Amino acid sequence: MSEHTPNASNFIKTIVSEDLKSGKYDEIITRFPPEPNGYLHIGHAKSIVLNFGLADEFGGKTNLRFDDTNPLKEDQEYVDSIKEDVEWLGYEWDNLFFASNYFDIMHDKAVLLIKKGLAYVDDLSADEIREYRGTLTEPGKESPYRNRTVEENLELFKQMKEGKFANGEKVLRAKIDMSSPNINLRDPVIYRVAHSTHHNTGDKWCIYPMYAFAHPLEDAIEGVTHSICTLEFEDQRPLYDWVVEKCEMEHTPHQYEFGRLNLTDTVMSKRKLKQLVDEHIVDGWDDPRMPTISGLRRRGYTPESIRTFCREIGVSKSSGVVDVQMLEHFVREDLKLKAPRTMGIVKPLKVVITNYPEGQVEMLEAENNPENEEMGTRQIPFSREIYIEQDDFMENPPKKYFRLFPGNEVRLKHAYFIKCEEVIKDENGNVIEIHCTYDPETKSGTGFTGRKVKGTLHWVEASQAVPAEFRIFNPLLKSDEESEEASEKTFLEQINPNSLEIHQGYVEPNMKDAKAGDKFQFFRHGYFNVDPKLSKEDHLVFNLIVSLKSSFKL
Ligand code: ATP
Ligand code: MG
Repeated sequence: MSEHTPNASNFIKTIVSEDLKSGKYDEIITRFPPEPNGYLHIGHAKSIVLNFGLADEFGGKTNLRFDDTNPLKEDQEYVDSIKEDVEWLGYEWDNLFFASNYFDIMHDKAVLLIKKGLAYVDDLSADEIREYRGTLTEPGKESPYRNRTVEENLELFKQMKEGKFANGEKVLRAKIDMSSPNINLRDPVIYRVAHSTHHNTGDKWCIYPMYAFAHPLEDAIEGVTHSICTLEFEDQRPLYDWVVEKCEMEHTPHQYEFGRLNLTDTVMSKRKLKQLVDEHIVDGWDDPRMPTISGLRRRGYTPESIRTFCREIGVSKSSGVVDVQMLEHFVREDLKLKAPRTMGIVKPLKVVITNYPEGQVEMLEAENNPENEEMGTRQIPFSREIYIEQDDFMENPPKKYFRLFPGNEVRLKHAYFIKCEEVIKDENGNVIEIHCTYDPETKSGTGFTGRKVKGTLHWVEASQAVPAEFRIFNPLLKSDEESEEASEKTFLEQINPNSLEIHQGYVEPNMKDAKAGDKFQFFRHGYFNVDPKLSKEDHLVFNLIVSLKSSFKL
């Protein structure tokens, strides 16, 4: 699938290509290793497209591996959603693995390290360990428990495994170098006690390996050749290599780091996304405002658009911030030729065409997509009463307003010219109805050239209009300032109270059969998706995927 391959300029691709050419490997194996502690987001998509894309391009394999070594935060719901999202993005894993299935091997490797004098049980508390670790400018201090004998360590580790100690009472640490300039090598903790039920192994274990110890072993066990992770792990690479070597793993995987994806106006940390869900600020992980894969899907993003975006942003050695408008650009591009055009009124204003015969309904022909003729045409009704947008009328317009105002003539898309004759108001002075006249000579498609008008409005015939709910989304965060770094309070304070607008409007009669996930371009508005959760046969709900125009240029 050549469409699945990452963008041409990509340093990891160069490495892979050279490793195959030199005969270092016959076949590459990559993996996507999510921790099942939340739903996947657009940042994960970048990693998925990279890992699966490399294997696709070079004829290798990709494992979906759940990095489930922390029982406290993991859940089957997350496992299921991650599988669904990877498949929806269009990828098939060659193997499905759980890191927790390797707990026996990991335990034995920890024992091996103890026997080699390379690991010891420490009684220091987490705070003390941090204090002893030193800083970037000061070396660390050795723990008083560092020189326990192998026998003592084996016995204590056994007792840890048997549940003799409370959480935090003892840990197993690698014995490396407390004065190393790389803090990650200052005797990192590799096993800890956690009395907690694991989603996969239940209560079999009460000790769990730490990420830095587990991850290299997982990669080595699976024969992963190129272990691709984000830049924060660069300083952990020496530890990764140490673990693989000292644990005497048969296969030696290599870690490569790339810059993580950050998007403007977008929260991308699972912890914060979970907070939005838990505090009911959004309607679940798949809320269309969420940057999760399931949220983007529900909003109406297509897998193709997400894959293209991930390829086009490229893979580099530094993490920058990508404008969210670039993501929007690609979904527009993808839907341009696929989504039928139609007319929908988000904020309705009734227009009565006073010289149109009462009781008459005529059918007008409308093309379904002027950029894609194959999509054909449809018939839409027109009569004496129609709806237009409230925003398309102004009683006292400013200069250069070309839409409807008293005395002005505009074109109705696919129909006639109408001219505003009278404004009807209620007792409070609110406009409730506009009276217009139409000119039968100006019918669309008849080649009328008599005179020109500057405005073209969309409309829906009133008697057959289908009521519909429109959901318009604005960014969840008011601004992207400090979004990742901000404290909890600041983060919640940054939430945009107007991120969801709901409007009750109308759509064309033939939309009554629209199904969940159907996508349309509403003329002059943008692309919309039929919400799979909220839309019902008698209550259509459309999510705004993206508006029509953007200032963004590639
Ligand atoms: P978060 O910080 O959002 O919780 P994480 O890195 O802890 O994310 P994991 O489940 O560990 O989430 O991630 C699985 C894979 O996805 C990892 O290889 C990680 O590097 C990658 N990944 C996560 N976030 C991004 C991102 N923003 N850009 C690129 N890759 C990412
Ligand atoms: Mg993580």
